[in-house]
Amino acid sequence: MTSELIDRFGRTIEYLRLSVTDRCDLRCTYCIPEGFSGFEEPEQWLNFDEIERLIRVFARLGLKRLRVTGGEPLLRRNLTELVSRLSKLPGINDISISTNATQLDRHAQALHKAGVKRINVSLDTLKPDRFATIAKRDSFSRVMNGLMTAKEEGFNPIKINMVAMQNVNDDEIEDMVMFCMENSFILRLIETMPMGETGRNAHYLNLQPVQARLRERFNLSDRILPGGGPARYLQSSDGRFTVGFITPISQHFCATCNRVRLSVDGTLYMCLGQNEKMEFGALLRNGATDKDLETMILQAIELKPERHEFNESPEKIIRIMAKTGG
Ligand code: SAM
Repeated sequence: MTSELIDRFGRTIEYLRLSVTDRCDLRCTYCIPEGFSGFEEPEQWLNFDEIERLIRVFARLGLKRLRVTGGEPLLRRNLTELVSRLSKLPGINDISISTNATQLDRHAQALHKAGVKRINVSLDTLKPDRFATIAKRDSFSRVMNGLMTAKEEGFNPIKINMVAMQNVNDDEIEDMVMFCMENSFILRLIETMPMGETGRNAHYLNLQPVQARLRERFNLSDRILPGGGPARYLQSSDGRFTVGFITPISQHFCATCNRVRLSVDGTLYMCLGQNEKMEFGALLRNGATDKDLETMILQAIELKPERHEFNESPEKIIRIMAKTGG
């Protein structure tokens, strides 16, 4: 089927990040501020029927891949039921989840059975004390438990997302490489983005020198991952270890952007670093037909901006990542 989801710049949009809640049980320094009270109220949340309907229409137009995210997606009640419904939608051939893993030990088996085969776990440090400093919660052992349960359950691949920060955890990057090598996890190092005050005050680290350093130290070479999204990947000479670099600041990848983000209240954000959006919550509740939804989705795709302006206008985005759906 040819996709109708092609934007003004010729990019085919086949990937949607679905935020099922903006709430989280951690307060990572670069994401949700301690004491934050701007969360959406439950009556604003899209319910499962609304989500399924909107994604079904999206898939008819060409959407292929979904990532369930948040906030912390495992905080949404009955998430497994939603995932199972979405994984059966015609056209959707890949469904994955991003989690902080605090609750993953309880949910891993059911999620795997429901059709999630790939999982991303956020882990910025291997030191329990440092975890508590970064995430403001003493949850390290629960996270490790969740991660290891997912490994035993057979999720493949498991990607570890590490937000790399200067003088916060940059001394642990090599340790994290070795941890991922030992456990057959793919590592992804992420540059902080200026989303909200927390994102702007994060200790930005340019990952270009880190990339050069790891290349040398671990004898890594370039790896092309088909449909691999924004990360640039390096691999070990035996091909068994892969590390990706998500570098929106030092080397942006907007020209190949293939995604949009749906927040918990049904707002479709066209770019992490811009404010273009389309509100689907009211439409879904006010009797819009599937044809209306199609029309609005196609209009939204037309709005997708060429690129973010994190470097030129770092003040522009006041939404924190948890709000947009990271
Ligand atoms: N709770 C889930 C998790 O931990 O993966 C999903 C949502 S979380 C917002 C998604 C990712 O966004 C996490 O890896 C987090 O570290 C990252 N993130 C949050 N704020 C960020 C920022 N300002 N810059 C870069 N990454 C950020």
